[in-house]
Amino acid sequence: MTKVLDEITPEETTDAPKPPEARNWRLETDAGGIAWLWLDCEGTGTNVISEAVLRELGELVDRLKQEQPKGLVLRSAKETGFAAGADIDGFADMRGDGAEDLLRQGHDVLDRLAALPFPTVAVVHGKALGGGFELALACDHRIAVEGAAFGFPEVQLGLHPGLGGTFRLTRLIDPVEAMTLMLTGKTAHTKKAKKLGLVDAVVPERHVAAAVEAAVKGELQRDAPGMKAAAFRVKPARALAATRMRSETEKRAPREHYPAPYALIDLWEDHGGDPKAMQEGEITSFAKLLDSVTAQNLIRVFFLRRKLKSEARGEDEIAHVHVIGAGTMGAEIAAWAAIHGRTVTLFDVKLDPLGHAMRIAADVCKARHLSGAETRDALDRLMPDPDGLGVRHADLIIEAGPEEVEAKRKIYEGLSKDMKAGAILATNTSSLKLDDLASATRAPSRFAGLHFFNPVSKMPLVEVVSHDKTAAQTRDRLAAFVGHIDRLPAKVTDYPGFLVNRVLTPYLLEAMMMLDEGYTKERIDGAALKFGMPMGPITLADQVGLDICLHVADSLRGSLDKDVPEAPEWLSSMVERGETGKKAGHGLYDWSNGTPHPEQPDELPEDIIDRLILPMCDAGVECLRRDVVKDADTLDAAMIFGTGWAPFRGGPMHYARIRGPQACRKKLEELAGKHGPRFQPDEGWGSIEF
Ligand code: NAD
Repeated sequence: MTKVLDEITPEETTDAPKPPEARNWRLETDAGGIAWLWLDCEGTGTNVISEAVLRELGELVDRLKQEQPKGLVLRSAKETGFAAGADIDGFADMRGDGAEDLLRQGHDVLDRLAALPFPTVAVVHGKALGGGFELALACDHRIAVEGAAFGFPEVQLGLHPGLGGTFRLTRLIDPVEAMTLMLTGKTAHTKKAKKLGLVDAVVPERHVAAAVEAAVKGELQRDAPGMKAAAFRVKPARALAATRMRSETEKRAPREHYPAPYALIDLWEDHGGDPKAMQEGEITSFAKLLDSVTAQNLIRVFFLRRKLKSEARGEDEIAHVHVIGAGTMGAEIAAWAAIHGRTVTLFDVKLDPLGHAMRIAADVCKARHLSGAETRDALDRLMPDPDGLGVRHADLIIEAGPEEVEAKRKIYEGLSKDMKAGAILATNTSSLKLDDLASATRAPSRFAGLHFFNPVSKMPLVEVVSHDKTAAQTRDRLAAFVGHIDRLPAKVTDYPGFLVNRVLTPYLLEAMMMLDEGYTKERIDGAALKFGMPMGPITLADQVGLDICLHVADSLRGSLDKDVPEAPEWLSSMVERGETGKKAGHGLYDWSNGTPHPEQPDELPEDIIDRLILPMCDAGVECLRRDVVKDADTLDAAMIFGTGWAPFRGGPMHYARIRGPQACRKKLEELAGKHGPRFQPDEGWGSIEF
C-alpha cells in the first residue's frame, strides 16, 4: 500500500516491508509517486555501508530504473543518523586484488544511482560519514535535517575516500575546501555544510517532505562552486595548491608514517580535471593504501577502541558523582561528568578552587562546542559543595585530593559514616598503592582506582584499577561509568605506576640518562618524533612536571624488583630551584615561546630509538607476566589512548611482535651489556604470548 510520508520520521518506518531480496533497505512509494528508499542495516542500530548494502542498492536501482518513479529519496531509518561510514569489519576481506574488484563493484552501483533518469535526493539526519557521505554525493540533491553533519574520517584509518568521494566532492564544491575536508578528516556541521555547498537545503524534520517535493520539481537551487573552482580544472593551478597542501600536511602527518593524505593530493593534482581518470586513480590508490602497514595498524587501532568500549558494557546507574578536591584533575573530572549528564557535587577544603572549577567547566563546554542551552544544563548539574553534603547522595565518590597516603586515608575515614549504601569510592591517584589506602575505607570491595589522564577532556583513557579486595562488580560498574561518560576504560591491577605510567616511565628516565651522557635534548626529542611518538620524552617530562617525574621514578625505584636508575643530580637541583617545566615556564626547555618543536633527523637514529622504545616493550612484557593487564591488545590500546603512543605502529606490544620478540630480547641484552642492568630483559620474553 502506498503511504503519504509527510509525517514519517526515521524511527517510525521500521515496520514497513523490505523487498524480499533486500535485507538492509525498505522501499516505499508515496502518494505523489516519489520512491523512498530507507537504509535500515539489519541487526544493528547504526547504518554502515557494507558490500551487501551496495549490492542490494544496485538491484533496487535497476528495478527503479524500470519503474520510473517521479523521484527517488535515500534516507536512513535509524535514529542514530544517516550512515557512520564503510563497514570496517569488511576491510579484512579486502586485501590484494580482491580489494579493487570490490571497489569497482561499489563504484558501479553508485554510478548507476547517479545516472538514474529522474531526480535523486539524499535526506540526511545525524551523521553521513565516509561511505555514507559518498552515497549522498551520488544523488542529485542533498537535504540536511537540522543537526546533520558530513565528513570523511578515512585519513584516520590511513586511507582516503574510496567510493567516489574524491572526484564527486571536488566537482561539487570548491576543490580546495573539498580537499581540506578529506585531508583533515574533520566533520562539517549543518551550517558549514550549507556554506560549503554540500547540501541544497537545511530544514527541520517537519519540512522534509516539502523540501523533497521542491527538489524533485527542480525548485531547489544550490550555489555553483564558482570561478575559483573552475580554475582548478587546469593542472598548473592544482600543482600550486597541491604544494601548499603537502607542506601543511607535513606539519601534522609526516609522509613516511602517513602516506594517505599525500596519495590523495597526488591523485587530485594529476587527475583533478578529469573525473573518470580520478575515479580510476581513486580505486587503485585506495586498494594500495589498504595494503599499507599504516592503514593495517590504524584499522587495528579502530578495533582496539572498540575492544575497550566493549569493556564498558553495563547499566548506566551512576546518577550522582561527588568529587573531592577541585584542583587540576578534580575540576575537569567534575566538569566532564556534568557534561555527560551526571549530577555532580564538588568539594574542596578551600573556596578558591571551587570558583576556579566552575570557570574550567565553562571552558570545557566551550571547547566541546556545546550550545548555550547545553552549557547552561551542564553547569546547572555541577554544584560547588563546600560543606560536602553530596557525600550522602552520591552513587560514586571520586577522590582527587593531594597525592599523599595520610591525606587520602584521612579523607576516606571522614566519609565512612555518610556514604550511601552500595556507593563506590574511587581514587584518582597516579602513584600510590591502593592497598595502602583501602584499609581506611569502610568497604574495600567497593574501593578502586579511577585513573584519569590530564587533561581529562582530551585524553580518552581511564585506568580502572583493582586492588586485591576490589569486587569484580565494582570494577565492572566503574568501567561502565567510564563508558557512559564517553571515555575508554582499561581494566588494570594495582601495580607501581599501574599500567600506563609503568610502561611510559622508562621512556622518560632513559632520556634523562642520555642528557647526562651529553646527547642534546633536541636530538633525543627529534629521534622520538621521527619514530612517530606524539611528543619527545624531554618535552613530555617538562609537560608532566619534572617534580612529578622525579616522584614517579622514586616510587617505582622503591617498589619494583627491577633496576631503575637514579635520576641525575642536576635534575633534583632543577626541581629544588623551581624549574619544574611547563608550569614554571622553564624546565629542560624554555616554555616562554610555547611548546618546543625540535627538528626531526632525516634518518631514524636507531641507537636512541632502541634505548627509548625497547624498555617500554620490556615493561609491557613485565605487566603481562604479572597480570597487570589481561592481554597485549588492551595494553596497546591503553598506551595509544592514554599517551598517544605512535598509533600507526599499532602499540608497543604490536611493535615488538612485528620486530620479533626474540630480536627484541637480544637487543635488550646487548643494551644491558653496554649501558647497564636496567636493560636486562624481563623473564617474560619467550614465555608470554603476545
Ligand atoms: P591539585 O593539587 O591540583 O589539587 C588538589 C586539590 O585538593 C586542591 O584544590 C586542594 O585544595 C584540595 N585538597 C587538599 N586537601 C583536601 C582535602 N582534605 N579534602 C578535599 N580537598 C582537598 O592536584 P591534582 O593535580 O588535581 O591531583 C589530584 C590527584 O589526581 C592526585 O592524587 C594526583 O596524583 C592525581 N593525578 C594527577 C594528574 C595530573 O596530571 N595532575 C594526573 C593523574 C592523576
